[in-house]
Amino acid sequence: MQAKPFSFRTLVVVFLLVAVFLSLDAIVFAKEEAEKRSVAQSGAAGDKAAGKDDLKKRLTPLQYHVTQEKGTETAFTGQYYKNHQKGLYKCIVCGEPLFSSKTKFESGSGWPSFYAPLKKDVVSEHKDKDEVKTEVICSHCGAHLGHVFNDGPNPTHMRYCINSCSLDFEKGK
Ligand SMILES: [Zn+2]
Repeated sequence: MQAKPFSFRTLVVVFLLVAVFLSLDAIVFAKEEAEKRSVAQSGAAGDKAAGKDDLKKRLTPLQYHVTQEKGTETAFTGQYYKNHQKGLYKCIVCGEPLFSSKTKFESGSGWPSFYAPLKKDVVSEHKDKDEVKTEVICSHCGAHLGHVFNDGPNPTHMRYCINSCSLDFEKGK
């Protein structure tokens, strides 16, 4: 008669031990996951900072200021506003082809001007903070390129006013 209550008690104790063990395991597992996540997050932030450092080394201070801090080069100082050679203008940051000499025109503004991008979706446009001007950025990497105005020539009547230092020219046919 003594054996029955004893084995029942043992069962309860074993059950409780297993329950405690399982919950401890769950806590440790959750902790490990949280640590892994925080390591992954700080890694991503580190990559971004490393990317910025890399860009600062690769670009001139003006190229960095214009493309990453939405700056503007002084009019009539850039290397491409009076470039009349045939070829492609690529993003200085990522190398994506953005404009062709075929749509370049003489605007008199002192910045390279195009009436259209190479393809519709290679650049993105959105309103500046002042809600007046429309900013143009590289769709591929987000580099600031310049602004677009609706006072351009035929056939689009658009004027993409782009900083020379956001561009890299590749001579072509
Ligand atoms: Zn780009």
